[in-house]
Amino acid sequence: MTQSNIEKLIIIGSGPAGYTSAIYSSRALLQPLMFEGEESGGQLMITTEVENFPGFPEGVTGPELMDHMRKQAERFGTRFIRKNVTKVDFSSRPFKVWVGNDMYQSKAVIVATGASAKYLGLPSEKAFANKGVSACATCDGAFFRNMEVAVVGGGDTAMEEATFLTRFAKKVYIIHRRDSFRASKIMVDKALNNPKIEVLWNTVIDEIVGDKFVTGAHITNLATKEKKLLALQGVFLAIGHQPNTAVFGGQLETDETGYLKTKSHSSYTSIEGVFACGDVQDHIYRQAITAAGSGCMAAIDAERWLERTSQG
Ligand code: NDP
Repeated sequence: MTQSNIEKLIIIGSGPAGYTSAIYSSRALLQPLMFEGEESGGQLMITTEVENFPGFPEGVTGPELMDHMRKQAERFGTRFIRKNVTKVDFSSRPFKVWVGNDMYQSKAVIVATGASAKYLGLPSEKAFANKGVSACATCDGAFFRNMEVAVVGGGDTAMEEATFLTRFAKKVYIIHRRDSFRASKIMVDKALNNPKIEVLWNTVIDEIVGDKFVTGAHITNLATKEKKLLALQGVFLAIGHQPNTAVFGGQLETDETGYLKTKSHSSYTSIEGVFACGDVQDHIYRQAITAAGSGCMAAIDAERWLERTSQG
């Protein structure tokens, strides 16, 4: 086992939240050490065009945006390790973070491990990722002007995304596996009252089909067993997100859906000296810009905490 010096700040995760916290904390001379993960950059690495990140009037690709952020963090002295953290011990200070047998210690930690959209598990879903299959209507909806799309799911996200997509698409199907929605009544009413939305109850997608892009989905009505091919150009998955918290092994307090709890208007977690930002603690906004904003908050909170507790 190898053991390093005690760092001032370790950042775990490398999406917009992690990189922004690295930019701010390295400019504050904390010389952060970031564990980027083997697939660095987070969810934006699987996004093509990003049109809603301020400062890019012509749009920017997700990987390009992440590359810019990484270079900006590097410029001010962030050090990177492109590995997945495998274990942590936050029970005493300095905090301990492992990558396999290598142990790292730090006075403060920022957690920015993000959340992953849940997928149905169909091979075709992966094959058509960014070619008609998306898990974010806010990000990709505008590419589906005058097209027919489907949203899969029956929760608030599905209602919200379906309603949002009617701004662009000429028709939006909500494909739901049961005969009732779990979404809140107000959001269901809004969706059901929209003339562009049609609900396909008790229905599942068996496979998504297409050539270069999605052209349809084979669906089955579970009640009638009827199967058919639905013509579509887009499929939006809205079946929930999974915050990436497994590595923390229950050491940080979460809400009932597994997202890390942070104190109101701050990035403080249940353990003093451990801060959280981005989608791992946000199930509501889930945008690159809000994640980046919360990364800035986490860096400022960590810096002030280190200063105040004379740990810095
Ligand atoms: P939810 O877990 O609430 O809903 C997921 C939906 O996907 C359910 O309808 C579920 O079906 C369906 N589903 C899950 N797995 C599959 C599968 N394998 N195949 C087909 N369907 C599946 O997730 P949401 O993202 O909708 O919401 C998460 C949280 O965020 C909730 O607390 C929600 O209230 C909140 N939220 C609030 C918003 C707001 O207030 N503006 C907006 C968006 C989210 P079934 O019902 O059968 O289990």
